[in-house]
This record gives sequence, structure tokens and C-alpha cells, in this order.
Amino acid sequence: MHAAPGHACPGHPESPRRLDRMQTWLNNPPYPEMLWLDHQPASEAEVMLVHPKSMLDDLKAACRMGPHELEPSPTYVTEASYQAALGAAGATLAVSRRILAEGRGRGFAIVRPPGHHAEPKQSMGFCLLNNIAIAAADAVAGGLGKAAILDFDAHHGNGTQAAFWNTPQVGYLSIHEEKLYPGTGRVDSASHAYGRIINIPLQAFSDTKAFMTLIEKVAAPWLRQLDAHMLFVSAGYDIHFSDPLTTSTLDTQGFFQLTQMLIRLAEEYCQGRILFVLEGGYDPQALADNVQACLAALCGRSDYPDHFGKSPGGRAMVGAQIENLILRHHLSED
Ligand SMILES: [Zn+2]
Repeated sequence: MHAAPGHACPGHPESPRRLDRMQTWLNNPPYPEMLWLDHQPASEAEVMLVHPKSMLDDLKAACRMGPHELEPSPTYVTEASYQAALGAAGATLAVSRRILAEGRGRGFAIVRPPGHHAEPKQSMGFCLLNNIAIAAADAVAGGLGKAAILDFDAHHGNGTQAAFWNTPQVGYLSIHEEKLYPGTGRVDSASHAYGRIINIPLQAFSDTKAFMTLIEKVAAPWLRQLDAHMLFVSAGYDIHFSDPLTTSTLDTQGFFQLTQMLIRLAEEYCQGRILFVLEGGYDPQALADNVQACLAALCGRSDYPDHFGKSPGGRAMVGAQIENLILRHHLSED
């Protein structure tokens, strides 16, 4: 876990408070199967698998100037932010490399600041360095073969997509809420890489069933055809119905079911290698419950707290969209 307490801005939703409720897990893991890994900050050479040196120099210089906003979304930095970002990337690398070293395994990098909006040349959208992209690029550079990144955060992971826009060894599939920040991720974007880069914008109020159906009907054949050797998951919990920034309507049980399904896919198509990396999720209590529900599934357990209960309901209809996606991306059923 990398909570980065020095990367903080009063009143900002992406705050260290997001991980407060999980701090007790460090001494008292919710499941005995869990093992915390030691981790070092990522080196600049490791980060440069995704971000050019000029970007790192600019970010370092911006942090040296003290607390201010980098862009209107707003993305903030403080004097501590550069080290915080290297720490989040390093923690993600530690879990990823452990899975690779063991040949299989399930991991979760509980880190902040998040990463999936950070483009190779620009920090944005609360994200400074792209943690999941650095880990996937590191895995590919280390001889993994192909990597798949599935992103269920409510927002499109423009940064991850940009990092692998022309990288045949990495697939990217994003399910996100349409019309939200940053406005990228249209279904017809990335037409040069149909079948490898899949963008699925969803209507507001989409629910657990919509996500489950899309993973079964679209993500499963995408993963099979990609022939990826590890599944990286950009796990954004801002699709929970309580989240203050979005309208999606998943509930905690939905995250548990979603994780079980992703584990099954990783077992079937990725030699059992699966790594969750924390992205968004801005209601701290819901975030703790939802992360724990995913940890329960990863540990083969079924007990987890749920302070919010069942979703008030939402939209589950994605049938026509699925047909369109299957045709567009040349996905086959078997
Ligand atoms: Zn998000």
C-alpha cells in the first residue's frame, strides 16, 4: 500500500483520506492469504518506459514550486508529489514483478496518486505518472509477451491508451461513463487498432449487470484473441453508486462478482496472472468496502463489509451495443 500522505490538497477529492480506512490492514490484513510486499520508489529509468525524461523534469520542477494546480481538472502537486508518484509506480512494479517471478498469482497495488489519465508527456486528471502503464511496459520489456489492460474506472483512461497507441504487445479495453472527463474513449476512436484497443462508453446510471455482460461478451473474446499473458486491471471504484463524481450504479457485491469473473478470465487466458491497480473512487468508506470485496475475491473468500448495500438500480441494457462491438472489433464467440 502506498498512501502518499504528503500529496494532499485541502478540499480535493483525490486525497490521502481515500486510504485512511485501509491503514489498519497493514498490521491486520483482512484475509490471512494477503501478503504485503516491500517496495521502493520507481527509478527514473523504470518510469521512462512510458514517460520521456523531459516530462519527468517538468513534473519535478513543478513540484519544487510548491502546492499549485497543473491544469483545470484540477490536478495538483506539492513538494512531496514527485516522490509520491515514484512511490505509487514503484509499489505497482513490486506487485507486478512478484507475480511475474512466481509465474502466476493475484495482486493488488493499493496506491495513490492514481495513474490512468497521465499521458506519456503530460500529468492530468488527478494522475501524475501512469502506474499501470509503467508496470505493463516493464512486464513486456521483461519478456512477458503480451499484456492486457482492462480499465473499469468511470473515466476513460486516456493516458494508458496513449501509452500503448502503437504497441501491438499491449491491449487496452476501457468501459467508462460517456460524457465524463476527459471526453476521450469514443467507440470509434483507435480505429487503427480495432480488436486490440476497445473503448466502450456507457450511458449514465449503468449497473453491475451492464458491466458483467460486457466483460463476458466483449472482454472475454478480446482477451482470448489478444493472447495476453497477464491481465492488468485499472480498478476505479468511482463506478459505485455512492460516488460523488459519477452516476454509475455498481454496488459492493457487484465489485465482488466482477472480480470473480476477471479472475476466471485470467485463469483461462492469462496463466492465472492478474494485477489490480487502484485508480479512482472518491467516497472513502465505499472505497474501503469495494477494495476489500475485490481482495476477498482475489483471496478466494466471500466475506466482506458492505456499508452501503444494494444499488438503487440502474441501466443494464447493453445488447445492441454488444453486437456493434463484436462486429467492429472482429470478436468471435470461440
Ligand atoms: Zn475515475
